[in-house]
Amino acid sequence: MSEDDFLYVDCDKHGRGIAAIVCRHQCNEKEAPIGFIENCTEPGDKQAWCHKCEEYFIEQGDMTDAFKEFNDMAIVCEACYDIIKSKHDRTN
Ligand SMILES: [Zn+2]
Ligand SMILES: [Zn+2]
Repeated sequence: MSEDDFLYVDCDKHGRGIAAIVCRHQCNEKEAPIGFIENCTEPGDKQAWCHKCEEYFIEQGDMTDAFKEFNDMAIVCEACYDIIKSKHDRTN
């Protein structure tokens, strides 16, 4: 995988970085820790969502339209992803 294969994003806080995906719930800075379940299939492909999304995904059994609407994924930079991870990642 060459660098050209990565998707880049221009972040307000961190400048240009590799894009990562989180759910809209995790983007709410006022939200208390809500979990951080990673769904990365390969390096450079960072994706995660919260516990609520995980439960809903299991209930739906697939990437349904209803799930996509609930999840409402947001693209952030890798640095933001790590910040969100440290905020919401709680091992039970
Ligand atoms: Zn969520
Ligand atoms: Zn950022």
